[in-house]
Amino acid sequence: MTDDDPASGGDGTPGPDDSGGARPPVEDVDDTPTLACTRCDREWDLSYELDELGVGNQAVQQFALDHKRHTGHFPDEVGTWHAECRRCPDGSEHLTEHAARRWARTHARHTHHAVAVEHARTDERSVVEPPAGPH
Ligand SMILES: [Zn+2]
Ligand SMILES: [Zn+2]
Repeated sequence: MTDDDPASGGDGTPGPDDSGGARPPVEDVDDTPTLACTRCDREWDLSYELDELGVGNQAVQQFALDHKRHTGHFPDEVGTWHAECRRCPDGSEHLTEHAARRWARTHARHTHHAVAVEHARTDERSVVEPPAGPH
């Protein structure tokens, strides 16, 4: 874990708040959910998503989807579902079990491969078997 001070160095982007106001420590925030991504080495609060959507869990999901869309990966604090084929290197990462299972079923259907579906943060794991094809 790095402990960089965001005020020192930085990427030189001018912030709108140059009034010298010090930000409160992040760990004191209890009503605004935050998400961190170690791959980006950044942390975000979700007040924007909360304003837009008004639902806590949905805000997290929406942020994670947006992050994936723009960076190609999910924030690491989001517990994602992985679908991994047991027969070939193909696989996919999804935000919901429903989406991961849909990917697994589609892959199994087209390739007749068994696909393991598991959650990143729990021991939950199941295998989607390919359907019995005709003949
Ligand atoms: Zn990221
Ligand atoms: Zn496969």
